[in-house]
Amino acid sequence: MSQRPLLADRLRQSVAEREAASLRRQLRTVTAQQGNWIWVDGQRLLNFASNDYLGLAQAPELAAAMQQAIQKWGSGATAAHLLGGHREPHAALERYAEQWLGYPRALLFSTGYMANLAVLDTCLQSHDLCVQDRLNHACLLDGARLAGARLKRYRHQDLAHAEALLAAEPERAAMLVSDAVFSMDGDQVDVRAITAVAERQQALLFLDDAHGFGVLGPEGKGTVAAAGLGVESVPLQMLTLGKSMGSFGALVVGTDAMIDALVQLARPFLFTTAMPPAVAAASLAAMQTARAQPWRQEALHRRIDVFRTEVADLGYTLMASQTAIQPILIGEAGKTLQCAAALGERGFYAPAIRYPTVPKGEARLRITLSASHTEAELAALIEALRQLRQQPFMNEPSTCG
Ligand SMILES: *Cc1c(COP(=O)(O)O)cnc(C)c1O
Repeated sequence: MSQRPLLADRLRQSVAEREAASLRRQLRTVTAQQGNWIWVDGQRLLNFASNDYLGLAQAPELAAAMQQAIQKWGSGATAAHLLGGHREPHAALERYAEQWLGYPRALLFSTGYMANLAVLDTCLQSHDLCVQDRLNHACLLDGARLAGARLKRYRHQDLAHAEALLAAEPERAAMLVSDAVFSMDGDQVDVRAITAVAERQQALLFLDDAHGFGVLGPEGKGTVAAAGLGVESVPLQMLTLGKSMGSFGALVVGTDAMIDALVQLARPFLFTTAMPPAVAAASLAAMQTARAQPWRQEALHRRIDVFRTEVADLGYTLMASQTAIQPILIGEAGKTLQCAAALGERGFYAPAIRYPTVPKGEARLRITLSASHTEAELAALIEALRQLRQQPFMNEPSTCG
């Protein structure tokens, strides 16, 4: 009778298309963990996919801080920040981050995803211009969409292109937004160069340092600190607490005026329950531990150096990354799945990353390294990669992306 298209049919169709293109995702449950080992479907795997770059997620300092805070504050914050949910551990975390990072103010969000939605949706209106790197994280693009801003994407790391897009619309208020470390490639933005573009074009610069925080710069203060810069050059940054800090949540650090505007206006801050105080306590302990134990950052960089040297020698294509994200470019989605499966058979978890997370034809094994990987564990992965190279399917010509 009715001609109305059925949404359920369309969703089934979309999933079927993904499946036909070797793009179906599998949700697998980790049933146990010990050190870097995880148990999945009864199989024990050495995990090379975690974002726990400093090995803090299982550090006793974090667990102790969390337990103490649970004793004092219970399990939940019970309300949004502005309605009684903002507890002392949340405030302590923010004040510590401000002092350590040298930013006037920090504001805690429940996730990096929400923090990015908050920053973009609050700063931008529909007639504004938002210029972003093509390979920016999905939530940065979503933030610009949520704001309804004019979103223009420039070729990856092509700052001349970024500047041209800004210069073409000088009458609009504008924001220039980039990952500081790109999440699927591991390369870093040139902070000085992007700062100069933002200044010349009078655009508000916002950097997402989800993967540089804890990893780069003095004491792991991140990509901006590594460039010797701070709030004068980069007025807004987002730092996740769920990656190198081994905890959960995110901080936006910035000028007083910017952060105050977020507290007043940002909907993903206003209309959500504050994170459990114990989680904030764990994040504070993570920052303190990262600073007190510089060996974590040092060990991570030693692992990165060994991995890059030895895996390049095996003839694989690495990406321009000096960070914990060390993807091996394979190309075709199906072949990349075969690689991931072959590594899985040998006891290693290194997932295939495919379209739409990365461009078509650029599927990759996304290997991430951690200070917690022992030299022996890394050597075992490299040996498995050497054997993988010998597999017949590795030398078959590619058919499609
Ligand atoms: C992981 C990630 C986020 C989201 O952070 P969550 O705390 O996991 O929500 C944002 N930006 C980048 C670049 C990321 O890699």
